[in-house]
Amino acid sequence: MANKSLTRMTRQRMAILNVLRSTTSHPTADWVYAHVRGTLPKISLGTVYRNLNLLRDAGEIQELTYGSNFSRFDGNPTEHPHFHCTSCQRVYDLDFDAETELAQRAEKISGFKVERTRLEFEGVCADCLNSKKRE
Ligand SMILES: [Zn+2]
Ligand SMILES: [Zn+2]
Repeated sequence: MANKSLTRMTRQRMAILNVLRSTTSHPTADWVYAHVRGTLPKISLGTVYRNLNLLRDAGEIQELTYGSNFSRFDGNPTEHPHFHCTSCQRVYDLDFDAETELAQRAEKISGFKVERTRLEFEGVCADCLNSKKRE
C-alpha cells in the first residue's frame, strides 16, 4: 500500500477495504460485516468495527456520521460532496469539486487554515421523487 501509516495490512483489513472499495453505496458496518464474511466466515463484528476505525484513522476510508446512531463508510478517501436522501437513507456521491472553492472562501473570511472539508446535501433523491409521483 502507498499509505505508510498502514505498514501492516492484515488479511482481515485488506478484505474489509476490498469490500468497501467494491461499492459506492456508503454502507453501514453491518453491511460490511455481512459481505466480508463471504471471504472470511469466522470474522467477528467487533473485528470489523475495529478495522474500520483503523482504516479511517489511516485515511484509507471515510466515516460519515449521521446523528448519534449510525455511521456510513466510504471506500473513497478523497473529499467529495455527498447527498443523503432523508426518505430512503441512501447516500450518493455528487461528482463535482465544491470543497476547494469553499475552503478558499472560508480561509479568506476567517484567516484560518482549512485542513478538511465535509460537504453534505440532504433532501429527497430522484428515485424517491419518482415513486412519490406514481402514488
Ligand atoms: Zn431516496
Ligand atoms: Zn462518497
